[in-house]
Amino acid sequence: MITLDDFNFENKRALIRVDFNVPLNEDLEVTDTTRIEAAKPSIIKVLEDGGSVVLMSHLGRPKGAVNPKLSLSHIVDTVSEIIGVNVKFVGDCVGKEVREAVTALKRGEILLLENLRFYAEEESGDLEFSKQLSEWGDIYVNDAFGTAHRAHASTTIIADYFSGNKCFGSLLSKEIQAIEKVLTSGEKPVTAILGGAKVSSKITIIENILDAIDHLIIGGGMTYTFIKAMGGEIGDSICELDKLDLATSLMEQAKEKGVIVHLPVDVLAANKFSNDAEVKTTPVDQIPAGWQGLDAGPKTLEHFKSVILESRTILWNGPVGVFEMPNFANGTIALGTFVEEATKNGAFSLVGGGDSVAAVKQFGFADKVSYVSTGGGAMLESLEGKSLPGIAAILN
Ligand code: AMP
Repeated sequence: MITLDDFNFENKRALIRVDFNVPLNEDLEVTDTTRIEAAKPSIIKVLEDGGSVVLMSHLGRPKGAVNPKLSLSHIVDTVSEIIGVNVKFVGDCVGKEVREAVTALKRGEILLLENLRFYAEEESGDLEFSKQLSEWGDIYVNDAFGTAHRAHASTTIIADYFSGNKCFGSLLSKEIQAIEKVLTSGEKPVTAILGGAKVSSKITIIENILDAIDHLIIGGGMTYTFIKAMGGEIGDSICELDKLDLATSLMEQAKEKGVIVHLPVDVLAANKFSNDAEVKTTPVDQIPAGWQGLDAGPKTLEHFKSVILESRTILWNGPVGVFEMPNFANGTIALGTFVEEATKNGAFSLVGGGDSVAAVKQFGFADKVSYVSTGGGAMLESLEGKSLPGIAAILN
């Protein structure tokens, strides 16, 4: 894998595609700086080598039109503070003004370009637009994992103009390594914990990871489609009736591949989908009509704990209960403590894709697991075994 460390940036201009798609409040202030902090190591490496940096990113969904609320000018101060260098800004990403700003850039300086998605050409992957962007740097660095699954101008097409002079940034290479650790080089036993609402959104992931894992823990809303397919009584629990055959087939595929599937044995059932519902613990396959399973039960958690603590490599995607409601967050929090303990004991743990990232952040586990992915969609597509265009473009 070709990374930043394969280059010396002395007197070179690095054109870095970052993911500064950060949340802004009504006063247009950055409310979560995670993505900016994640880009810092790549920027610092270039500056320390004696190079200069041109940063390009999108922000929000302006859909090809200028939208002042989505200007990257709003984040300049925050980026300056985090990087520790006064960042310059130019109110466009192509054209004469940008050329002047780029040409004036000195060693040690950083220039942030305006929102790429003010041009429809960014998302359509326009060749001419990509070529214009490519003129702003000597070496192209892709450090935007969050958009690596999109064949946009700045993430993919642009790479063609940098034959030999392109690489992965620190963040993107860490993401790629983390996925590889789970899917190809993970120390055994490898365990995947899949939760979340629906099995339909995880089918391709399950099918793809079966070859790589030893244990599959299924939790959350997905559980009930599997239990129903096995003939259990699931009451009013969430269930995809059109996916019962598929659930059976996934269980068979797992068995053929020697993967042990662990489903909940008991659940916290509620008499309505609400935090103030009445609650009782029931066997997972004997949930009465009018009741629905909203969190993992105590026996389930004991069992999941033993599997997780024996694992050397862990992938966690999706909560095992409706963690947004405090009364049904216990299972997801407990799972976090098991993954934390396994990690302390030397296991490699990757949390990625969708709501599990929100859950580990909310419950304070983000720095207690080995790696938390920054790219929801990109992580899911990687786990599905798809080749991401932004990654392929660097490797080509
Ligand atoms: P996903 O985006 O697929 O990871 O799904 C996450 C969502 O699944 C969260 O909003 C959870 O509240 C929801 N979820 C987890 N367990 C259940 C359940 N037993 N019943 C309904 N929704 C659930």
